[in-house]
Amino acid sequence: MTDISDIKTKLEAKLRELDMRTHEIDEALSQPSDDNWSESAVEAESDEVMEEVGNLALEEIRKIRAALASIDAGTYGICKSCGKKIAPKRLEAVPYTGVCIDCA
Ligand SMILES: [Zn+2]
Repeated sequence: MTDISDIKTKLEAKLRELDMRTHEIDEALSQPSDDNWSESAVEAESDEVMEEVGNLALEEIRKIRAALASIDAGTYGICKSCGKKIAPKRLEAVPYTGVCIDCA
């Protein structure tokens, strides 16, 4: 089994990265729109895309926080749905997952 402190370090690094990304998106979205009509349309579209990316990042942040909490609680690597151990390979691929492959 992979060292849990390694996983924690990885998760914390990922969390910081996502935090920064959502921050950048927030800033970009709060920029005042251009007066030019055609450009505003393009901008509105990219705003939507950015919002989507931001939402995905927030979802990931939520999962990583939950994973970090379960590490502290000593329940990391146990499926929240069926209570079985999550395969180490799956944890390696998706370290912040809370459910096993059968329940995902
Ligand atoms: Zn399960």
